[in-house]
Amino acid sequence: MQKPENSKSADLGGGAAPSSKRVCILTFGCQMNEADSENIAAAFRRRGYELIDDLKKADAVVVNTCTVRQRAEDKAISQIGRLRKWKLARPEGKLFVVGCAAQKLGSKEIKNRFPFVDEVVGAKAIEQFEDSLIAQLGPSPDTETIHQNLFRSPQTAYVTIMRGCSLKCSYCIVPAVRGPAVFLSADAILQDAAAKIKSGAKEIVLLGQTVNAWRGGRTTFSELLKKVLDLPGLERLRFMSPHPLYFENDFTALLARENKLARYMHLPVQSGSDRILKLMRRGYTRGEYLALLARLRAAVPDLAVSTDFIVGYPGETEADFIDTLSLIKEGRFSLAYCFKYSPRTEKPEMAATISGPVMQARLEKVLAAVKTNSRVILNERIGKIEEVLFETENYGRASGNFACRVKAGGTPGRLLNVLVAGADKNTLNGKVL
Ligand code: SAM
Ligand code: SF4
Repeated sequence: MQKPENSKSADLGGGAAPSSKRVCILTFGCQMNEADSENIAAAFRRRGYELIDDLKKADAVVVNTCTVRQRAEDKAISQIGRLRKWKLARPEGKLFVVGCAAQKLGSKEIKNRFPFVDEVVGAKAIEQFEDSLIAQLGPSPDTETIHQNLFRSPQTAYVTIMRGCSLKCSYCIVPAVRGPAVFLSADAILQDAAAKIKSGAKEIVLLGQTVNAWRGGRTTFSELLKKVLDLPGLERLRFMSPHPLYFENDFTALLARENKLARYMHLPVQSGSDRILKLMRRGYTRGEYLALLARLRAAVPDLAVSTDFIVGYPGETEADFIDTLSLIKEGRFSLAYCFKYSPRTEKPEMAATISGPVMQARLEKVLAAVKTNSRVILNERIGKIEEVLFETENYGRASGNFACRVKAGGTPGRLLNVLVAGADKNTLNGKVL
């Protein structure tokens, strides 16, 4: 799921090792980048580094960049620019620029613009980040992997199951910067998930750009889910983001059967107009997308679905846009991330054709429709019982991914039934049963 561009710095949640050295990791972009930052954090921890979020005290800084929209790239670039001061104050400090914008711009351009950057590691080479660390800091005396959970509650851990993407959505830069789809082996995935459960995770989130496209020889995505679901100690399994093209028949039966599989799906649709979907090369029509939702909801009637929309795609007419507005209601989405189209290539046919004010007005209309719709969906949960995985005594997440608050009675790390009494903004309120 792609969230609005912002950067997150590592917090101290992973338990800091005693050390005189400190690293600060600034992460922009999606969950794939967050998962990469967790691996980078683990590599520093093996060298005894403490993770901090105060840049000024850091001996090393990593900027993990995003380029999915121009705004995300600009933010990452200005962050690198601001680090000039840090480097001047601490010339022996090491600055690493990694991720998707690093891949797009290339090491040469980044080092030309920012000569104080020590290492550039593009998204395609992110698994070789260790080599850059060796070049700058020397080999690690410790080979043991130390899992770092930086972005979610300690109960939740990311497990990357595929890298890159082999689809060719016309607007998207991901395949260019992350390369074609590569699937991790079922054994590696199970090992990673088991290690994270052992270190305290109750919930696993499997990650990939088209996560349900995963294949491991003859093993299907649903079979992989079943293997992960069977890991002892796991309470809940999520995955993101699936693509409408890759749901196989065995998936709906699994979803209906397995209660530990979250009653939630982030299923990006992008547009409600068949004409735009075709131009986007999404590979499905509005009708096919809605039929898929109907099939999934027939298996699990209370399935919560969120999505992504792009407004202002080149040539998007008022009629196309109205189709998007009507899909918001028809799709019954509990949440939607909405983005203004951002050209990611120089191709003339991909230049933005919708004026800034029209693009902004469309974005605002879509956001308002999503808000009204999600209020309806949230209110429908009142009076129902939700299974909540608690993160604190008072707060947790329902299977449908709704935030849930109780006055008392929650136990961190436990799944408890909550009777929903009310809904407030994006949060359900209730009582532990
Ligand atoms: N793989 C996922 C899928 O197939 O939908 C999405 C991955 S993409 C990194 C996350 C979201 O960013 C997309 O769903 C889309 O809404 C948005 N996005 C991607 N390229 C964009 C662009 N050029 N302009 C605006 N939004 C874009
Ligand atoms: Fe981009 Fe499309 Fe691949 Fe998603 S499926 S990462 S939108 S090319």
